[in-house]
Amino acid sequence: VAKEEGKNNYQFYSPDIKTQSLERLALETGLRNALARGEFSLHYQAKVALQSEAITGVEALLRWHNAELGPVSPAQFIPVAEQTGLIVPIGRWVLRTACAQNVAWQQQGMPPMCIAVNLSARQFLHDGLLDDIADALRDSGMDPALLELELTEGMVMHNTERAVALLTQIKQMGVRISIDDFGTGYSSLAQIKRFPIDALKVDRSFIREVASDSADRAITGAIIAMGKTLSLTVVAEGVETLEQRDFLRENGCDEMQGFYFSKPLPPEELAAFLAKERGGGT
Ligand code: C2E
Ligand code: MG
Ligand code: MG
Ligand code: MG
Repeated sequence: VAKEEGKNNYQFYSPDIKTQSLERLALETGLRNALARGEFSLHYQAKVALQSEAITGVEALLRWHNAELGPVSPAQFIPVAEQTGLIVPIGRWVLRTACAQNVAWQQQGMPPMCIAVNLSARQFLHDGLLDDIADALRDSGMDPALLELELTEGMVMHNTERAVALLTQIKQMGVRISIDDFGTGYSSLAQIKRFPIDALKVDRSFIREVASDSADRAITGAIIAMGKTLSLTVVAEGVETLEQRDFLRENGCDEMQGFYFSKPLPPEELAAFLAKERGGGT
């Protein structure tokens, strides 16, 4: 019977595994050519101050449209780009494109604003990172103070000494640093204070039920309080409702980002959205 079951299991799981590896292979092959074929674009999502409602900046989010695969979500392709190392040239493109776009917006008459770019673990370990940042800033002519890099806790917790040294060098360039998806890792207050960071982004998983779940309210409240103690800007991710916004505002959170205010938008739409927001007078 065991043999029978084993056989059935094999037959049951085998096609799945095969499909998975074929899908992965298709993603990998597609990603290898994507930069050369110009298949990437960036969407931009605004961040807004909870008290003043002023727009404080935008985050660049990578989009990939492949002819055969159609649109592929970052949740699917970023891990493959990461595992193959393709994230290094792709991430370089993201940095350059985001900085150039920000300068273009200013040249169109938009007020200067901060632009945030996500970094992956592999990029953070890559020796060329500082050069890539410096090149993107120099070639675009963007003020370094307008660049913010988003890292996750896991990236800085692995080799903390190296991370502190690297982050210190990035800070010396005048660039801001934030910790993305905060609360999902295992970093303590004592660890976080060692890093020269400017902002904490509270993970969407805590915000989702912050209006109704007492544990999420307590955790989010504690993260906000901790951020204040460390003089960090605290940003809530994934804010979708008025109730979430009200909780965050009442609890002293600095900024929010989420569908409630704006979805990530292509550059022209973002510019139009911001013009309308600012023109409307908050
Ligand atoms: P992230 O950096 O935490 O970005 C926030 C994600 O939440 C984005 O998903 C955004 O579209 C989504 N989001 C924003 N507001 C809301 C909301 O109110 N509700 C919901 N349900 N979702 C919201 P996206 O664009 O699919 O990106 C997913 C992740 O992929 C990012 O998470 C980031 O870790 C990674 N990623 C995106 N672009 C890049 C990139 O250029 N480089 C690297 N290394 N990673 C990137
Ligand atoms: Mg992010
Ligand atoms: Mg995030
Ligand atoms: Mg997140």
